[in-house]
Amino acid sequence: MSQLLLGAHMSVAGGFDKAVLAGASIGCSTIQIFTKSNRQWSAKKLSDSEIDIYKKTLNKTAINPIIAHTAYLINIGSPNKDIEKKSIASLAEEIERCNQLSIPYLVLHPGSYINGNKHDCLERIIENLNTVIQKKDTTLILLELMAGQGSTVCSTFEELEYIYKRIDNKKQVGICFDTCHAWAAGYDFSTTHTYESMWRHFDEIIGLKNLKVIHVNDSKNTRGSHLDRHETIGKGTIGLEAFKMIMNDMNLFDIPKILETPKNSLEDDIYNMNVLKNLLTATTLNILEQKK
Ligand SMILES: [Zn+2]
Ligand SMILES: [Zn+2]
Repeated sequence: MSQLLLGAHMSVAGGFDKAVLAGASIGCSTIQIFTKSNRQWSAKKLSDSEIDIYKKTLNKTAINPIIAHTAYLINIGSPNKDIEKKSIASLAEEIERCNQLSIPYLVLHPGSYINGNKHDCLERIIENLNTVIQKKDTTLILLELMAGQGSTVCSTFEELEYIYKRIDNKKQVGICFDTCHAWAAGYDFSTTHTYESMWRHFDEIIGLKNLKVIHVNDSKNTRGSHLDRHETIGKGTIGLEAFKMIMNDMNLFDIPKILETPKNSLEDDIYNMNVLKNLLTATTLNILEQKK
C-alpha cells in the first residue's frame, strides 16, 4: 500500500458512480456503500450499463478498495423462519451484486436472537453462512463486531471466533472492527496499555490477519453501555488518544478505515477525516512520504 486508506460511507443515490465521485471529491482513498436500499429485502438486477459506468468511474479515481455494507433488515440468525428465509435470500443477492461490481468486502451484522436464545442464533448464523457462501464468490463476508445492543450477538471476539471457526470456506470470511461498537461492548483501547492488550487479545482469539476493515466512529454513550450510537470523532466518549493510536499503528496501517459518523453533508466527512489526519505523527507522515 502506498497511501493512507481512509474514507467514509457514501450515499449511492443517483447511482454507484455518484458515490465514487463524492468520495473522490473529498479525498477518500476508500469508501463504503450499500449496493441496494438498506431498508428493502430485494432490488432490481444490476444492468450492464450500471456496472460499466460504475467501474469506469472508479478506475478514474484513486479509490481502492470499495467496501459494501449489507442492508440493516438482514438477520440470518433470526428465530422467525420467515425473516430468516428472507435474510438468506437477501444476503445471497447482495453477495451476487458485490461479485458483479468486483467489491472485495461485504460487511454483515451477524444477527440478533430477538425472543429466542443466543446459542440457537449463533448456530443459525453458522449454518446459513455455510449455505450462502459459494466458492466462486469474489467478495468476502466481513462479520462486524457489534455493540451488543438488545439481543444482538457478536459483541465479543470469542463470539466472532465461535462463528468463524465453523465456516467451511474460511478464506471467504473476515472481520470488521467498529471502534464505537467495541467501546460500547466494553473493550478499552484508550490508553497505551489497554490498547496493546486489546489487540493482543484480538490476535490471540481471531487473528489480526483476519481483520479486513475498521469502522472509525466515536461513541455517544459510555464504554460498556451496549448502545450503538455513533458520534463525530473527538466529540464522543472514546477520546482522541485511542484514534491516534489506531491511525499510527503500523499493524493496522494497510487496513481500510471507514467513517460512519453522523452526517448532514460531505462537510461532516471532511471534518472527521481532517481530525483523523491531524492525529498522524511525524513518523507516520514520513513513512507515507517514503511510500509515495
Ligand atoms: Zn455495521
Ligand atoms: Zn460499523
